[in-house]
Amino acid sequence: MFFDAHLHAGMFPDIGATVGCALNSSIIPVPVGIHLKESQNTLKALENTFPFIPVFVGIHPWYMNDYPFDEKLFNSLLDSPLVKGIGECGLDNKIDVPLEKQIELLELHLEVAMKHDLPVNLHIRGYHGELIRVLKKYRGSVRGVVHNFTFSYEVAKNYLDLGMFLSVGSHIIKPSLKMIRVLNSVGVEHLLIETDADYLHTGEYDPELLKNSYKSLGSILNLSADNIERLIEVNIKNLLRI
Ligand SMILES: [Zn+2]
Repeated sequence: MFFDAHLHAGMFPDIGATVGCALNSSIIPVPVGIHLKESQNTLKALENTFPFIPVFVGIHPWYMNDYPFDEKLFNSLLDSPLVKGIGECGLDNKIDVPLEKQIELLELHLEVAMKHDLPVNLHIRGYHGELIRVLKKYRGSVRGVVHNFTFSYEVAKNYLDLGMFLSVGSHIIKPSLKMIRVLNSVGVEHLLIETDADYLHTGEYDPELLKNSYKSLGSILNLSADNIERLIEVNIKNLLRI
């Protein structure tokens, strides 16, 4: 079984059809939230038809101004048995929101994750030092994944030391030499594979995009197709505790 570790199912016009399309191709998608209303819609769309799908709920930093933290709504979402994680949350140095406000929201997510023993799905652009500093406060209490892993091994090492998984996207289908070296240094035991929002503009989920990323990661790490599939499954089940 394949796993799409980070999919914005809630941003597709038909959430159920998107998840159904992935399942038909032996892919278990992990929908990740961008804000609480969208997370709520995803849960509603899936709870009757696909109650086994693991869902992350949270507020992406890009949406924090328009959809602020609502503790009551957040807590009500956590009652759903589909919720297996918190996020997408994190820090972004290209948005017009002060860093302190972003850290405040991130810490609210980390507190919820810690309280409910759930993993976090982390977005990071630019502010690695700041994110690592925040995560160190929660070392041993919060597990998670840093998604869209495209950075250097030196940066990655900090996240690995904090017990985080790193999730790679379709950029590994045509990897740079540097990326090949970095992925080999990280090792398969810390990696997940995702599609994020890569084909959102088409309005349709494309299972081949994920499968090509699996194939590519297998060849980068010199692992057979069966092995890469099995090892990534072990990792995500470990993260989600499913
Ligand atoms: Zn995302």
